[in-house]
Amino acid sequence: MVKEWGFSTRAVHAGTEGQPEGATNPPIVASAGFAFDSAEEGFQRFAEGKGYVYSRYANPTVRAVEVRLASLEGAGEALLCASGMSAIAMALLGSLQAGDHLISEGSIYGGTISLLGQLFPRLGIEVSLVDTLDRAQLEGALRPNTKTLYLETPGNPLLKILPLKELAAWAADRGLVTIVDSTFATPYLQRPLQLGCDLVVHSATKFLGGHGDLTAGLVAGVRERIEPLRTGWQRLFGPVLSPFEAFLLGRGLATLPLRMERCCASALAIAAFLESSSAVGRVYYPGLPSHPQHAIAARQMEKGFGGIVAFEMASGFEGAVATLDSLRLISRVASLGDTRSLIMHPASSSHRLLSPAERAALGIGGGLLRLSVGLEEVEDLIGDLRQAMSSYS
Ligand code: PLP
Repeated sequence: MVKEWGFSTRAVHAGTEGQPEGATNPPIVASAGFAFDSAEEGFQRFAEGKGYVYSRYANPTVRAVEVRLASLEGAGEALLCASGMSAIAMALLGSLQAGDHLISEGSIYGGTISLLGQLFPRLGIEVSLVDTLDRAQLEGALRPNTKTLYLETPGNPLLKILPLKELAAWAADRGLVTIVDSTFATPYLQRPLQLGCDLVVHSATKFLGGHGDLTAGLVAGVRERIEPLRTGWQRLFGPVLSPFEAFLLGRGLATLPLRMERCCASALAIAAFLESSSAVGRVYYPGLPSHPQHAIAARQMEKGFGGIVAFEMASGFEGAVATLDSLRLISRVASLGDTRSLIMHPASSSHRLLSPAERAALGIGGGLLRLSVGLEEVEDLIGDLRQAMSSYS
């Protein structure tokens, strides 16, 4: 693999070389264990960590996709996990222990907020959720035992954009590890490691897989940070990716640039349509000049602003429910980053476990809808939204 090849070339080729029988796609190696030719060879494979032993340790199909993802993220190493949540847990547990303190951006995926707020205190890990755009809040949250800064940009569901270069530099000056969830952007649009962050995590269930047919997660960074996660946390907690899922993920990655270009163009057109609709109170899309962090997004997201648009119905919860029920093309599904367009109501799904006060503090109201723009004709998507909102326009 030539390192200098462009992103789209690497999205197709990286990690696919040297397959058995000249296969162009790394085959699905559905094997829990790998036979040793002799006892001595078995001793060596265990002792030196070279060669395959057991699929909870490593699997060739999974490995091929890790090589491709490391190349796309510009990372020394990548670790695939069974889901985005397990990737986040591995990355965080690898940098924290009982008695440590974590500062996290507050406007992030609800599952992560629940992990940090409900489970981490039971492990003796202190957590502060802050507005990381507010430097005074960030400084004020620092404690002598603060070890890690956790970010997500664009944030789920309000598309808050965080300046990664500045925040990673702030954290590095204070000796903190910076971890970023870059799920909404994918490495096609944003590469946090190049901006100074230490680890990037993804729900690969979303745009990386891209077809709504798998669950997977990714952690990427320098080898020294990834290998302890692989040989320690993942091997012993066990959330590994199955080779079948890895095969689908690898197939999805080949079209990532094409899919993201289409999503970005359609999402921008839909965001502009929604902004012009009297049924809509507010639109959240980093590509709109009206977005409060549009300038940061334009600097940081290299090729576009992503495929997720959130909007607040002017008529609140009632209008959101009526719109959801009236859609004919866009599917009511609690996921994102699929070939088909998906819509959901964050207050009752991804952020359901938060208290009403916590949701209100984040700005997640009953009238908020989050749209994941798929690959359909954009005119058809706008037409579906227009007819669904017609009684409120
Ligand atoms: N991160 C973000 C931004 C998400 O939106 C999600 C799920 O929606 C996750 C992480 C969790 O990923 P998974 O569902 O693959 O565990």
